[in-house]
Amino acid sequence: MQLKKLPDRAPEITAFEAGYLVSKNGGWRSVRPVIDKERCVRCGQCYLYCPDGTISPEFEVDYDFCKGCGICAKICKRGAIMLEKEADHA
Ligand code: SF4
Ligand code: SF4
Repeated sequence: MQLKKLPDRAPEITAFEAGYLVSKNGGWRSVRPVIDKERCVRCGQCYLYCPDGTISPEFEVDYDFCKGCGICAKICKRGAIMLEKEADHA
């Protein structure tokens, strides 16, 4: 996999752009965020606040790296992100 070059200075948002994590860490997640595309208004807050950069600019969650912290669901003022039990997706 082609790794991205890290920027020279700290990002102005809370997380690096998606794609910097290289070791999959989603295996210990107990809940997963699921985005309701009908409710989503594409404001970008979840993308900006996800600390792991696992939400793409198209608002797709990369479950290989999402740790299920729930910050995206908390920040979404539209209530478009629901945290669902990981066991229900096994
Ligand atoms: S914060 Fe909510 S409304 Fe905004 S882009 Fe993310 S899912 Fe959509
Ligand atoms: S649950 Fe946490 S790690 Fe997963 S997409 Fe939301 S903010 Fe990012």
